[in-house]
Amino acid sequence: MTNPADLMSSLTGVLRQYWGYDSFRPLQAEAMRAILENRDSVVVLPTGGGKSICFQAPAVALPGLAVVVSPLISLMKDQVDALTECGIPAACVNSSMSNSERLQVANRIRSGELKLLYVAPERLCTDKMLDFLETSQVSFFAIDEAHCISAWGHDFRPEYRMLQQLRSRFPGIGVHAYTATATEHVRHDISEQLGLREPEWLIGSFDRPNLVYRVQRKSDVVKQIRSVIDAHPNESGIVYCISRREVDETAELLSRAGYKARPYHAGLSDADRIRHQDAFLNEDTHIIVATVAFGMGIDKSNVRYVIHTGAPKSLEHYQQETGRAGRDGLEAECWLLWTSANFITWRRMQEDLPDDARAQAYESLKGIERFCTGVVCRHKALVEHFNQLYEASNCKACDVCLDQLDLVADPLIVSQKILSCVVRVKESFGADYVAQVLVGSKDARILGNGHDQLSTYGLLKQEKKETVRDWIEQLSSQGFLVRVGEYNTLKVTDEGWKLLKGQASARLLKPSANKKSAADKSSKVDAASWEGVDQQLFEVLRGLRRQVAEGHGVPPFVIFADTTLRDLARRRPTTMTNFRQIHGVGDKKTADFGTLFTDAIREHCQQQKLSVDVMGSDAATGSSAPAKPQPPVVNSDVAVSLSAAKQLAFDLFREGKSIDHVATVTARSPSTISDYLSEFIAITQQCDPAPWVNESVFQRIREAARTVGIERMKPIFEALGETVTYDQIRVALACMRNLPPVG
Ligand code: ADP
Repeated sequence: MTNPADLMSSLTGVLRQYWGYDSFRPLQAEAMRAILENRDSVVVLPTGGGKSICFQAPAVALPGLAVVVSPLISLMKDQVDALTECGIPAACVNSSMSNSERLQVANRIRSGELKLLYVAPERLCTDKMLDFLETSQVSFFAIDEAHCISAWGHDFRPEYRMLQQLRSRFPGIGVHAYTATATEHVRHDISEQLGLREPEWLIGSFDRPNLVYRVQRKSDVVKQIRSVIDAHPNESGIVYCISRREVDETAELLSRAGYKARPYHAGLSDADRIRHQDAFLNEDTHIIVATVAFGMGIDKSNVRYVIHTGAPKSLEHYQQETGRAGRDGLEAECWLLWTSANFITWRRMQEDLPDDARAQAYESLKGIERFCTGVVCRHKALVEHFNQLYEASNCKACDVCLDQLDLVADPLIVSQKILSCVVRVKESFGADYVAQVLVGSKDARILGNGHDQLSTYGLLKQEKKETVRDWIEQLSSQGFLVRVGEYNTLKVTDEGWKLLKGQASARLLKPSANKKSAADKSSKVDAASWEGVDQQLFEVLRGLRRQVAEGHGVPPFVIFADTTLRDLARRRPTTMTNFRQIHGVGDKKTADFGTLFTDAIREHCQQQKLSVDVMGSDAATGSSAPAKPQPPVVNSDVAVSLSAAKQLAFDLFREGKSIDHVATVTARSPSTISDYLSEFIAITQQCDPAPWVNESVFQRIREAARTVGIERMKPIFEALGETVTYDQIRVALACMRNLPPVG
């Protein structure tokens, strides 16, 4: 089957059979179609958008080998492990492998067994490798993290430039680029550098609806971090710090407070970095405290929170770093703890950049500063920053929309008090000083300057100094104040003067620390994904997943995603048929882990008196309706050796389901199912072909077989004038073989 239309329709089956997914995510079908039709493509989906399956599923469906370019060994390894666990022949070649391991991979390519090969660009672009691939059947090239080819991107890797030769060396073979990068400039650069031919542009929404964004001014940072961590016991999270020193200090403080946290930054030895990263991936530790050096090689799908303990240098970075949370589509929290000192630090670090780059860097800083001090929906602010429309009026997944921030009731008066104080101190002092004057501080410097005599002294004495500092930031980010000179002294802008005269309006936030705590789980995304889930069982299954992962030498999320564990703890399957219906469970995982997990579920549910096999609509509500009776598994001795799909098919035959029905449920073709049916009939020694073939058709086939024999189907088909189907003949013959020989 090589027609793209036929292949396309088989992809749903591939998705179900190998990954246990029922539908495509946005743009996945379009991205796969581009591959099947051999049109180059640039696919831009946010992290967690499901880019990998866009090339993995077509690689399975197409003849030949798909070559995937990936920048990091850790990324390749995780993907190959994940594919292998799903039953898809995949491998990587990299510098950490021995010659004999590489030879083994080459042999698998030559034999045509391998469907996906992961390779780093510098290795792919050696003459030896390219020559070898020219003699192999390459189905297409997929360039993962394609922004690495662009010097405009945030992670330029010169070795990616070597990929330019793919187009000339493999002129007829599709090249497909995948990235989460948001800027248009980078996307076009990717296409140009790779020499793509009128590529299909598939740009997804940058919104990540499952991420709950919260922005807070940094105060007692360890306390703030702990309140988030405490809301996620036993769940994985990343704490980002700006500097290595902060990483070490924070990790140390958390460890002293009894949390298992590991540091990660470029100053650690390679061995330590690998050790800490592995501990995080394998869930030996749940918390990693890191600089942004950590993340690119991380495919871990169940990171449940990302905390920034300082503002990153741009919204692009923020999007990228928070993107590492909730890749599995389940809710995850993103906390941004910031202070104005962060922006001062970044500006200082960027001072020596060439003029253009500096101007660009400062613009980016303003963007993130506005985000920190802003009062619009965080999802909207992010999406609109990337020039996309955000239509929802309430995302129900950020501090603003969840009403976790208070707006000051009369912002004009408060703003005027602040601005006039800036004017009274002759626009010669910084934010901290102005805030102190406004709250009526007795600081020696203020008294010495005689500023306790100003009309604005103590005008906001009922407020905390930090609150006034926040308001100053907010007024700056809204363009009413500006910082100038080496000491960042505050000046009132033209807009600020308008505000002083009451001709403009400002918005001020009142941080409401007590309104909603980090532990509060009131976001829209959260409610849905835990619905009906037995959390105790979830924990039992999580432990089991970890054991299995250890045995297989892979991280737990490679065995099952959290979505799958939740679905298991919600629907509580105890039969293979029901296990196979769980989200994220394909054929191979049913065969490999079905017994283990269903046993654990059965045992837990018996102890806790929980209903099992809640497979229908009850599942979502977690109703404790009695379990439905399940069809018995056919001849259990035989069943042990059956593949999961076949076993499921046998269960359904037992219920008398039609070939078409079973084909749909098992995502197999009808002809495969009729083969299974013949085998089922042979095993069960059944002589009656009902309900698959009716009596009169069966008698006609028997008649014809008496004349032309039962060895081949075609003569029977022709003898009956092509009025019966091959499937009917196959089933009838299977039953006839069970009939006692006629005397
Ligand atoms: P990206 O590479 O875009 O960051 P991934 O390919 O890692 O995203 O996918 C993120 C998660 O979503 C993975 O666990 C993946 O298996 C899952 N996923 C991808 N496509 C689907 C789908 N159609 N249905 C359900 N889950 C999916």
